[in-house]
Amino acid sequence: MPSPQPRPNIADIPPYVAGKPPTVRPGMTSYKLSSNENPYPPLPGVVEAVQAAVGQMNRYPDMGSGALYAALADTLDVPAEDLSVATGSVGLIYQLVHAFCEPGDEVVFAWRSFEAYPIAVTAAGATAVRVPLRPDARHDLDAMVDAITDRTRIVLVCTPNNPTGPAVTQAELDAFLARVPPDVVVVVDEAYVEFVRMDDPVDGVATYRRHENVVLTRTFSKAYGLAGFRVGYAVAPTPIAGALRAVSLPFGVSTIAQIAAVASLERHAELMERVDALVAERTRVVDGLRAAGWDVPDAQGNFVWFDLGDRTTDFALAADELGIVVRPFAGEGARVSIGETEANDRLLQLAADFPR
Ligand SMILES: *Cc1c(COP(=O)(O)O)cnc(C)c1O
Repeated sequence: MPSPQPRPNIADIPPYVAGKPPTVRPGMTSYKLSSNENPYPPLPGVVEAVQAAVGQMNRYPDMGSGALYAALADTLDVPAEDLSVATGSVGLIYQLVHAFCEPGDEVVFAWRSFEAYPIAVTAAGATAVRVPLRPDARHDLDAMVDAITDRTRIVLVCTPNNPTGPAVTQAELDAFLARVPPDVVVVVDEAYVEFVRMDDPVDGVATYRRHENVVLTRTFSKAYGLAGFRVGYAVAPTPIAGALRAVSLPFGVSTIAQIAAVASLERHAELMERVDALVAERTRVVDGLRAAGWDVPDAQGNFVWFDLGDRTTDFALAADELGIVVRPFAGEGARVSIGETEANDRLLQLAADFPR
């Protein structure tokens, strides 16, 4: 008997392996360092603003997310027509592929990079083209340009790169953009932009202003600490932003997510205090790891990468014993988020005890 069949590409979608919650150990606080979440609670005033709005849950959200568009346009100094808000930047990646790719079209990205990329690309019936990272865990932008064919519709540049940590420089991005054909969309995934502290950092907004094919994706999930509410945004030339809004899920961004995002944007000084504290912890962790003999790549996000090969699973188990949960990529390495001071201390302890 024939039965309903999804499109054949659906069976090829790789699973998303979410960061595990910590194992509960009696008498020991456990820490989740597996999802690059913010260890701080929401910014001051955000919980109160959301609480005042929960009583309206019988109503649909403002479908146009008007207050959020206005706040973002004001903060970034860009026209609201050049913005598209969505259910996190994962939602934006889905919308980009949906709006720009026919089945069989190609999407080029570095690998290993953000695991949602091949999922979104395969779900749309497009073809994922993975370009290996360089040995120093950085994007090989020349090889990515070389991988572009006449089927390529999108190139994704993840900077800082999740899970390895390095970010591209403005000079590298400019040289890359000069070589990408103008009809290929270049997505600069800036999920961790607030944490970047390097020479010649990318100025995403200035770059978008100079190019008709550059899209920035950003999120409230990481620095802003709103991962549970699912809200992010794209900055793009007007026609691209319009296409992203056209394919967006109607009423996708909830009322409380819109309110939390607007309230968070009003707290820039407090945001940067927390980000600076996390960056200071990142520096402490990276310095400690290097002093202990670990060769960790440049860490520009809120996480560090351990290149462990086939010892990855052992490392994750040893971490669990110490009450910290890391994100293992079996056979490759482990990503560990910068968390509470105590959690970071335990990571340094683990790194001191675990064979290099
Ligand atoms: C976390 C992350 C995102 C954002 O996720 P959302 O919660 O969907 O906004 C996007 N890109 C990268 C590289 C990430 O690590």
